[in-house]
Amino acid sequence: MNVLMAAPEAFPYAKTGGLADAAGALAAELAKMNNRVLLVMPFYRTVKERFPARFFGGPFEVSIGEHAFIGSLYRHENAVFIGCDQLYDRPELYGTPSGDYPDNAVRFIFFSRGIFEAARVCGFKPDIIHCHDWQAGLAPAYLENIYRRDPFFSGTKSVFTIHNMGYQGVFRAEVLPLSGLPPDIFNPEGIEFYGKVNFLKAGITWADIVTTVSPTYARQIQTPEYGFGLDGVLRRRADRLRGIINGIDHRLWDPARDRYIPENYSAPKNLTGKGVCKKKLSSLCGFEDASRPLVCFVGRLSHQKGSDLAAAVAGEAVAEGVNLVFLGKGDEPYQLELEALGEKYPKNLCVRIGFDEEFSHLVYAGSDIFLMPSRYEPCGLGQMIALRYGAPPVATDTGGITDTVRNYLPLSGAGTGFLFAEASPASLRQSLWYALCVYRGAGRWRGVIRNAMAEDFSWRKSAERYVEVYREAMGI
Ligand code: ADP
Repeated sequence: MNVLMAAPEAFPYAKTGGLADAAGALAAELAKMNNRVLLVMPFYRTVKERFPARFFGGPFEVSIGEHAFIGSLYRHENAVFIGCDQLYDRPELYGTPSGDYPDNAVRFIFFSRGIFEAARVCGFKPDIIHCHDWQAGLAPAYLENIYRRDPFFSGTKSVFTIHNMGYQGVFRAEVLPLSGLPPDIFNPEGIEFYGKVNFLKAGITWADIVTTVSPTYARQIQTPEYGFGLDGVLRRRADRLRGIINGIDHRLWDPARDRYIPENYSAPKNLTGKGVCKKKLSSLCGFEDASRPLVCFVGRLSHQKGSDLAAAVAGEAVAEGVNLVFLGKGDEPYQLELEALGEKYPKNLCVRIGFDEEFSHLVYAGSDIFLMPSRYEPCGLGQMIALRYGAPPVATDTGGITDTVRNYLPLSGAGTGFLFAEASPASLRQSLWYALCVYRGAGRWRGVIRNAMAEDFSWRKSAERYVEVYREAMGI
């Protein structure tokens, strides 16, 4: 099967979050399963600087309003990059901590049209265009409303994956004429969202099949609480909506082979390396007493991820005898809040602001407990990585966390983590205290670690589910 994977970010090229891991790993796994896969993404500065991508085709022109933008294609292995320096040669992917780039609508109109140009230039006739998130949300609309008439794409079907309902790409109505899409789609059944244009809604409306990244989140987003205003649209498409949990890249996230940690380890027998990792992490963080339980948070600093909830219990946790590491990047108020905590508790609380992939490996490996107090969580990779590295999560029972973490049962000793229902400081505190009690009963804790590390989150199972969905879209 020919699969064109259209993603605004993909590991290893560019990453701000879990979408990059998912798109990169899924593309690689599908290729291993003998599909032809073409990964298409923008040619950001970070890609230009770090990968020897070669000029591959173009120029092609896309008119956006009065302006003609010129694009070129670059290739590196199985990835094709859509280049347009004016739009993508910037320090960040989507914006700075103070806000999104003001021309994001234009940047991703260009990308969504460029996908079709890339397919043509590569002579790659896709059976499936698999689009990810609002940045590629217009592509299913282009396919249905424009490219369907083109013999090159007449057999092409689209699958649209929602990684997070909280990011929809909502723009002023004046953006629609810029897109080149027909004006009559501006209605509530089409692309309109309360007088504005909504790119995510376009993907949901015109894709042959819509997926999201866990079965629980697929159910939740059909309710007002989680649908961010699009629950009605999703209910309308419920018969075409599927939930497929992401995997993690087991080669990249493997404590037995990880190059970024001082000593490798594996369950059930060879766990001593984990202690070495904890020592190294504690010394890098400047902790005075490395024998304390080490609790970490790794993630975007945003309302969704609940870093503020973790911050709210940090002082008491330190008083309870815990060391804490925060690794994160995101909204400024959350960054400042954490930095202040770091200054207040220099011997027991370490804050690293920034996106540091390498350091994150050591944090997962060196920690005893992983905090994930998300207010909602489409899938979440952090908890799966933490499980694999033997750092049982204390996490909200929501979305993909529900589908991947099994709550600890004290009598049988079954379970892999500690779940709480409501994302609040009180619930987080209660669950963390409970986890610490189990931690202090050392034998029981080793059982939880073993359960956690025995879970299988490899991509193969998820990729097989996607192939089923592609077949369904193609009607075979
Ligand atoms: P998101 O909603 O941000 O996509 P996920 O849990 O699905 O959240 O994925 C987050 C991924 O990004 C994980 O692989 C996590 O380890 C990584 N990550 C998040 N923040 C950082 C950071 N500051 N430094 C390094 N890695 C990070």
